[in-house]
Amino acid sequence: MRRLRKIKIVATLGPASGDYDTIRKLFEAGADVFRLNMSHGSHDEIGERHRIIRQIEKDTGRPIAILADLQGPKLRLGVFANGEEEISAGQDFRLDLDEAEGDATRVQLPHREIFEALEPGASLLVNDGKIRLKVKEHGADFADCEVMVGGTISNRKGVNVPDVELPLAALSDKDRKDLDFVCKLGVDWLALSFVQRPRDVEEARELCQGRAAILSKIEKPTAVKNFTEIMAVSDGIMVARGDLGVELPVQNVPPIQKRLIRQCRASAKPVIVATQMLESMIESPIPTRAEVSDVATAIYEGADAVMLSAESAAGSYPVEAVSTMNNVAVEVESDPTYIDVIGASRGGEKETVADAIVSAAREIAETTDIRAICCYTQSGTTATLVARERPQVPIIALTSMTGTARRLCLSWGMHCVTTGEVGRFKEAVINAARAARSEGFVTAEDQIVVTAGVPFGQAGTTNILRVAPCEERLIYSTDPG
Ligand code: PEP
Repeated sequence: MRRLRKIKIVATLGPASGDYDTIRKLFEAGADVFRLNMSHGSHDEIGERHRIIRQIEKDTGRPIAILADLQGPKLRLGVFANGEEEISAGQDFRLDLDEAEGDATRVQLPHREIFEALEPGASLLVNDGKIRLKVKEHGADFADCEVMVGGTISNRKGVNVPDVELPLAALSDKDRKDLDFVCKLGVDWLALSFVQRPRDVEEARELCQGRAAILSKIEKPTAVKNFTEIMAVSDGIMVARGDLGVELPVQNVPPIQKRLIRQCRASAKPVIVATQMLESMIESPIPTRAEVSDVATAIYEGADAVMLSAESAAGSYPVEAVSTMNNVAVEVESDPTYIDVIGASRGGEKETVADAIVSAAREIAETTDIRAICCYTQSGTTATLVARERPQVPIIALTSMTGTARRLCLSWGMHCVTTGEVGRFKEAVINAARAARSEGFVTAEDQIVVTAGVPFGQAGTTNILRVAPCEERLIYSTDPG
């Protein structure tokens, strides 16, 4: 089950993938991180999927990351007397706070705060942007709109308001309950939807109390505008192309994806490219050529992870979708052009001893026939710095912290190994060589680079680099003392 690729695969679980056998097959096919989408499924269902993942972790002896994705302050319409209505371009349509069932002239939008924030001319996009309304006039409890693009409008469809910074709390009541639930279950990553500003992330971090790393989904124009500040307070980023492509013209999404990946890599923050990557595989056992090309592009761009949503959660071919991503990654990553592109796009500020040590580790591995970089890490920070270097050899992250090993499953190139507490550096080198050999990355004849922080057990102390043989007898004979 050792991965032969650097990029990670995130698979969303759902009705098509809720049982032990399917989740195990997804893991064996290449899923490194499982996403629990809090927009769908009861707490009982989510709890059961969580239990199964942890069981698979135990059965396979491999750390697996769990990412819980909060729904966020998603706006939704009320309901219609007939369930749905046809509305046409040019007609008037009212959104209001009236709980009465809707008809072809009006429907409830049960979010009081929105009406105040609207402006004449603002767009309201319904059902993933399929229906477009333009605000003509608004008051404290209504918005009179002109239908710009008509169609079928139906119960509880989502509403996007791209032009306005919404005065919405970062977390709804549902999000707060879900956050408490998943943090008690024990998840590794918490994804926040519809983040608009850094303080949205800070609010979630306060509630989370260090129980999970925080990943911000970039899906609103305000989040793109405030990206540098949002990234600075987040542990990871998701380019959530679904809603992003509704709130902005779709042609804006690829350049934003490129820029966000580049900025995340420079800052050593893991970044996921998400949504519609293999959309046709919801119904087909083979992807379109364009989808394969989209997955390949994210890999060439240096993303840490690619994600499956409905393909693995609700589609007919969840395991095939993971295998497809895995196969594309193995092929792309063996392309000499990929190696050139990834090497040429190295960047980011280097200020600390740890930055210099991991950079040296990568250079030594490139200059000589070193077979792996073994990195001792407490919080995971040094390991993500090694990932930022995008070395060609495997990165083996060694940690005594189970949570760190699981969290790092999202980071590029990382093979996570949990070790016991280490007291002395020589012991660390021996453990690293054993791990690299038992993972099948090296033989007794090979050499590895080991980085660590002494004294052990303290985060932020990386201060040693050693080139070491993999044979224990040689480690003893070359021990500097
Ligand atoms: C997205 O919009 O691309 C996304 C990943 O979010 P969700 O699946 O929660 O809509």
